[in-house]
Amino acid sequence: MPVPPGHTVTPLQTIRVDIAIIGGGIAGLWLLNRVRSAGYSAVLLEQQALGSGQTVASQGMIHGGVKYTLGGALSGASEAIADMPAHWRRCMAGEGDVDLRGTQVLSDHFYMWSSAGVVSKATAFLASKALRGRVDALKKTDYPPVFRDPAFKGSLYKLVDMVIDTPSLLDTLRRPHADRILAIDWATARLQQTATGAIIELGAGDERYCLESQLCVLSAGKGNGELLRQLGVQKPAMQLRPLQQLMVRHRHLHALYAHCVGSDSKPRLTISSHRDGDRMVWYLGGQLAEDGVHCSAGELIRRGRQELEALFPWLDWRDAEWATLPVERAEPAQPGLLRPDNAWLSPCDGLPRCVVAWPTKLTLVPNLGNLLVDYLAQQAIRPAHDDALPAALPRLSAIAPAPWQAATWETA
Ligand SMILES: Cc1cc2nc3c(=O)[nH]c(=O)nc-3n(C[C@H](O)[C@H](O)[C@H](O)COP(=O)(O)OP(=O)(O)OC[C@H]3O[C@@H](n4cnc5c(N)ncnc54)[C@H](O)[C@@H]3O)c2cc1C
Repeated sequence: MPVPPGHTVTPLQTIRVDIAIIGGGIAGLWLLNRVRSAGYSAVLLEQQALGSGQTVASQGMIHGGVKYTLGGALSGASEAIADMPAHWRRCMAGEGDVDLRGTQVLSDHFYMWSSAGVVSKATAFLASKALRGRVDALKKTDYPPVFRDPAFKGSLYKLVDMVIDTPSLLDTLRRPHADRILAIDWATARLQQTATGAIIELGAGDERYCLESQLCVLSAGKGNGELLRQLGVQKPAMQLRPLQQLMVRHRHLHALYAHCVGSDSKPRLTISSHRDGDRMVWYLGGQLAEDGVHCSAGELIRRGRQELEALFPWLDWRDAEWATLPVERAEPAQPGLLRPDNAWLSPCDGLPRCVVAWPTKLTLVPNLGNLLVDYLAQQAIRPAHDDALPAALPRLSAIAPAPWQAATWETA
């Protein structure tokens, strides 16, 4: 392109790192921690705020897959994930592959309940030997306060799963590497294919840089679709599974973390609880959020309120406020848009030095870390560059707001 009169072309300065990671959700931040503690120099590029997209929208459940047994049997998904709560607990104690000390645990258990009269394969299976050690039936005296009302007639189980506060998780992963997390503005940056991988051109003021790496990792959640398109890569392909989550903000200060089991193979409702000032937000997913994709926000609020009135007739919802969150889960494409069972990391078609990664679940991100470490060994990629980065490149530390902080509330 000809240079307009009066302009000069700033020469590109080359920055070399071992690993360049694009996207700072749980996947990118976890991978940054894993590779840096293995001695690689690495940089993470984020275009918005850390965790934008799925991670801050998630329910924060670190689960062992019991919810996938509701069809009445152990499945591939429930087995692949079974060890994950124990793995995360080791990390929270500072004894795992990533140091998560400082991450806030919202609850160290999860409940599963079925309302009176629901007889499903699931309830029989939950009580069976196959799940011993992962599920405990509770005595009435051990019920959490919200279920102690005499009007509650269902049965209640306790799972070994835990719930974490995702903004504090992101902050714990960000802090030790604050100098390696950069803001990227794609209005001026470019991702380009090389013979075996990808380079990133980026600017800071008048300076232009070319970021070269031994391995480029695309971990941008839904944004991987656009990055693959920019590289002209067809495989792997991505699928998006939409949801519409429901939020209800109220003054019943019960913090509840539970799945409600219906007669179907998926939880009828999954509830996590989050404090918002002096009130409590119940964040509702499960079948309600999957079916809610086809509803207007008003219709979903009506359905959700009906559901809560039916399940908790002893609670008063008259002064509650409501909001919804349309959001998409980004995953590797599966036949029939099925939910994948495992974390995914694979090279882009024809580019062994550029991989695409989707954890598919927050819970499975440790598996994603292992997949990357294995891939580095398989490709014989060893630490080769030092850690210096130009001071002029803008650092990024902002964490995305939680959905209830960004919501527009309405009374039903
Ligand atoms: C409603 C909901 C509830 C969930 N609940 C749970 C749960 O309880 N337990 C569980 O295990 N899993 C849960 N999940 C799944 C889990 O949240 C996701 O699998 C996980 O958060 C995905 O993380 P990620 O880092 O791949 O993507 P994201 O969290 O979406 O992060 C992608 C990041 O990349 C950035 N980005 C995008 N494009 C670019 C670009 N071009 N350049 C630079 N940066 C870019 C984005 O700004 C964002 O920060 C839930 C998902 C949803 C939607």
